[in-house]
Amino acid sequence: MARYLIVGGVAGGATTAARLRRLDEHAEIIMFERGNYISYANCGLPYYVGGVISERDRLFVQTPESFKARLNVDVRINEEVIAIDRSTKSVSIQKRDGSTYSESYDKLVLSPGAEPLRPPIPGIQDEEIFTLRNVPDTDRIKDYVDSHNVQHAVIVGAGFIGLEMAENLHHKGIKVTIVEMAEQVMTPLDYEMAAAVHQHLKTKNVEFYLKDGVSSFVREKSGLQVRLKSGRSVPTDMVILSIGVRPDSKLAEDAGLELGINKGIRVNEYMQTSDPDIYALGDAIVFPNPITNEECHTYLAGPANKQGRLVADNIINGNVRKYKGSISTAIAKVFDITVGATGVSEKILRKSGIPYVASIIHASSHAGYYPDALPLTIKIVFNPENGKLLGGQIVGFDGVDKRIDMLAHILKHGETIYDMQEIEHAYAPPFSSAKDPVNMAGLVAENIVRGMVKIIHWHEIRDLNLKDITLIDVRTPDEYALGSIEGSVNIDVDQLRSRLDEIPKNKKVIVFCGTGLRSYFAARILMQNGYEDVQNLSGGYITYEYATQKQSNEDIFHGDYIGKDDHIYQGKEAGPAPAAGGKTVEVDASGLQCPGPIMRLKNEIDRLSDGDQLKITASDPGFAKDVPAWCNMTGNKLLQVTTEGKKISAVVQKGGGKALSAEDGGGKNKTLIVFSDDLDRALASFVIANGAASTGKKVTMFFTFWGLNVIKKRGVAKTDKDLMGKMFGMMLPKSSQGLGLSKINFAGMGPVLMRKRMKDKNVDSLEMMIMQAKQAGVQMIACQMSMDIMGVDASELIDGVSIGGVASYLEEAEQSNLNLFI
Ligand code: FAD
Repeated sequence: MARYLIVGGVAGGATTAARLRRLDEHAEIIMFERGNYISYANCGLPYYVGGVISERDRLFVQTPESFKARLNVDVRINEEVIAIDRSTKSVSIQKRDGSTYSESYDKLVLSPGAEPLRPPIPGIQDEEIFTLRNVPDTDRIKDYVDSHNVQHAVIVGAGFIGLEMAENLHHKGIKVTIVEMAEQVMTPLDYEMAAAVHQHLKTKNVEFYLKDGVSSFVREKSGLQVRLKSGRSVPTDMVILSIGVRPDSKLAEDAGLELGINKGIRVNEYMQTSDPDIYALGDAIVFPNPITNEECHTYLAGPANKQGRLVADNIINGNVRKYKGSISTAIAKVFDITVGATGVSEKILRKSGIPYVASIIHASSHAGYYPDALPLTIKIVFNPENGKLLGGQIVGFDGVDKRIDMLAHILKHGETIYDMQEIEHAYAPPFSSAKDPVNMAGLVAENIVRGMVKIIHWHEIRDLNLKDITLIDVRTPDEYALGSIEGSVNIDVDQLRSRLDEIPKNKKVIVFCGTGLRSYFAARILMQNGYEDVQNLSGGYITYEYATQKQSNEDIFHGDYIGKDDHIYQGKEAGPAPAAGGKTVEVDASGLQCPGPIMRLKNEIDRLSDGDQLKITASDPGFAKDVPAWCNMTGNKLLQVTTEGKKISAVVQKGGGKALSAEDGGGKNKTLIVFSDDLDRALASFVIANGAASTGKKVTMFFTFWGLNVIKKRGVAKTDKDLMGKMFGMMLPKSSQGLGLSKINFAGMGPVLMRKRMKDKNVDSLEMMIMQAKQAGVQMIACQMSMDIMGVDASELIDGVSIGGVASYLEEAEQSNLNLFI
């Protein structure tokens, strides 16, 4: 009778044991588990903490007793295998009471999993710092949360488990701060796809710090402080450490088995270790990735379970099945969105030097005309020669799971973008479109490969010199007014044929729209009209905007509260929408993607009379941001915006708002963008601003990039900045007093001479002009995005300066007849 010993009784171990028994009724099978539980749902643990899974018993798929009864497996819980003696083919086991004994084997299976990383950060042993790997960890976290009135938690590490924990703690009404060392969450994703996750986390009021790590945990009288490398200190009630795992391979290492990267147990294609009588599987092993051929880990339940069957088959039948490696197909729910990935990312391909093309599309989860269609972004990477799919990533609200599985299927079978086009999916309007988004991603990829269109990516545009290209936003003027790429001109795709004379033929032309679809039409029009160098922005403005806006969400927990709808709000709790004066019309713009909801809003408002109200519901996440900007620009009054699950509802009163263009200067206001910090340019801008203000015009100065130095307070330098912020702080002028001239520097004497000459000529100093501007009511806005980039803190700016984004500037520019860029 054969004797099989298994180390580890959860995903890989329990599956192997069950399959071994099904193949050999007479074998002796002993499964050792050092913990108290076997075959439980690790993947469900975060949801039990959050209360989504309410009954603890539901986590246990099997018990030692049920395993024994059904499978006749001798399950020994609370017993740890502490050594392997390969010469005698035996293992030593330690019981909870410390006693030891040994057992011999014909074949030994190792499925010991992976253990959470706990780096030697000062203070890491604090009792309020938790990791999550198993049921006892889960019980500890849940008990702590339930019995300690936890208000705030810090999650260190924004991988899949970290984000699941963030969501589940938030679900319990706990404020959550995430700290992540990388520049993005979820490292299997490429940056621009992770950026969509960042923007979603912001809508949920999750505080998060990127490119920042924990330097220490400090216990103070007031409680636990998480000190960050940037100098910040985050007070908290508890910490969940989820910075990653490493193979639990000490037993294998001590036994002299061959190890690979990060000490993972190296196995061959039959899942045998370097000792043919010892097999290994699950989180503990390393195996070549089928795409890059580089050895890698796969910390996923699916592969561990499937490998269990393969190992058992090979043990019983003699190495009959080969393991092909995992393509790491993974999925996670992050609040209202779902994030899926399969294969390898663009960044890995770049690092591995494998040729690829990347393409991004935006689509709907199902037919747009059927209610509740929601946006979906698909990124694929594929071989430019043969079209073989190399990786896929999807972020969306609905239907991500089946699309990522379609891509995984294509990838697993070594298929191509052409096969993606041919997937025959089940279609009816509630489920998909006649061409599924995955079909569409394949079609778009073929257009690229066949040269129907050349594409460019958001980061390439960001780094381009606009002088050398014509950048055309082919969306409608209304969409353009809501925000576009700096330096672009607006030519609606539907007018493109009649406006070709505005586009020089001797320059590269880059076209973009919201998603990349309309701009593809535009590219085709241009290419067939003699434009030789035309490129379409892959993923359109949606991806560009996601990726180029501020990513982290810092310092948000001031004066906040958790609303009844599970969202954390800042400031006063929003009251109900004011009662309607005129009639109220309700429209459902769900399923429409940007700019669909705004266009619908415009069309419906046009039909109403002044005082009537429109209640509009949309599912496009960008609508929450667009609707206030649109109302401000058009003079309609926004009464309420609420988010319920994936739905955004806005109540807008026609004409009830500030009639902006009429009341705020009849379009005669003046707007100045102060980009430069040259003393002479700053002087010129304040001369104009003060002059205009004196004629009664409303003047707005928008200070961006270097221009921020003009409005810095003297003698205030914030110390707790990140490294880049400190570097910028050292290199930049500390206040208006330190500005230089655009010409004539004379080793620093230029500005001194200029100031002297102004004094001699009785011209006010810059500082005096700034003061006069403030007194005259000139509105000064510091650009939030520039502040972040330049490391300028609000406390460093002179009093009276407000902080705003581009929407604030556009709102003002809309009502101006003078708009200067200095
Ligand atoms: P495990 O399932 O971890 O089992 C290893 C067992 O071996 C442990 O119980 C351990 O106590 C025992 N053991 C170790 N050494 C010894 C020894 N010397 N003697 C006796 N016993 C020993 N994957 C997904 O695909 N999707 C998800 O949604 C997902 N969510 C997760 C959520 C959480 C909180 C966690 C922790 C993991 C999640 N995973 C998920 C990962 C997944 O659970 C693992 O990939 C999978 O369980 C690996 O199986 P394994 O058999 O290798 O290790």
